[in-house]
Amino acid sequence: MVELEHARELLMTMKLYTAAELLDAHLEQASHEQQTYLHFLDALLSSEQMERSRKSQETRLKLSRLPHRKQLEDFDFSFQPSIDKRQIDELATLAFTARTENVILMGPPGVGKTHLAVGLALKALETGMVVYYTTLSHLIDDLRKAQTLGKLERRFGVYLRPAVLVIDEIGYTQLSRQEAELFFRLVSDRYERGSMILTSNKYFSDWGELLSDNVLATALLDRLLHHAHVINIRGQTYRLKDRLKAGIHTAPPVTISEES
Ligand code: ADP
Ligand code: MG
Repeated sequence: MVELEHARELLMTMKLYTAAELLDAHLEQASHEQQTYLHFLDALLSSEQMERSRKSQETRLKLSRLPHRKQLEDFDFSFQPSIDKRQIDELATLAFTARTENVILMGPPGVGKTHLAVGLALKALETGMVVYYTTLSHLIDDLRKAQTLGKLERRFGVYLRPAVLVIDEIGYTQLSRQEAELFFRLVSDRYERGSMILTSNKYFSDWGELLSDNVLATALLDRLLHHAHVINIRGQTYRLKDRLKAGIHTAPPVTISEES
């Protein structure tokens, strides 16, 4: 028993806390099942490793600030036939992140842009990537605040570090020229360095007005679209699904520029 305590203390000293905690249970199981030494060691270290990866994922999930945890598996593709499910399945392999390509989800409110962006972000988190979610208006507010405090460079790091940066809701608020420049700088700095998943309710042709500068918008879209998967969703808002089922067609038609 002195040996057991000693072994446990050693595990604790080496910060193998889960292995220390489960040592008794693993020893008991090993003797019960007459496991080999190797099997016992493998099982003990695997439990440590699994707990570490679970904790790391939980931490990364919290730090990602995703608005919810809706999975791609929860998405009803039959409701949105304009989406090519094979394309989403291909994106879900995350090969696009290795090639630092972007994903741009476009369409009117309620068609599942945020759901798909979050679903892809969750896949990236599962594989151990660092992900960060923000909306365009939060991003700009945040960078402007940092700018007034003279901390812009440091703050930019928050948006440059993640392997996958999600910028949701591009199009709901028009940016001033100065704000558009911050957005442009971020897109330029991430160009060919890290993937972005963007959602927008505005066609690219409207981004000039959105960014209060046509030249800047062209330069920004040039970088953004160079390596990008654009998914154009043309369909009904899912929020109306049940009303449509009930045969009530009283809702006003949904247009691409409508705010949700
Ligand atoms: P958008 O970002 O395009 O405005 P959301 O992704 O927020 O739309 O979708 C609105 C709501 O409808 C969310 O609760 C989302 O989970 C749900 N939703 C949208 N499309 C689908 C779908 N095809 N299958 C299942 N849920 C959907
Ligand atoms: Mg949305």
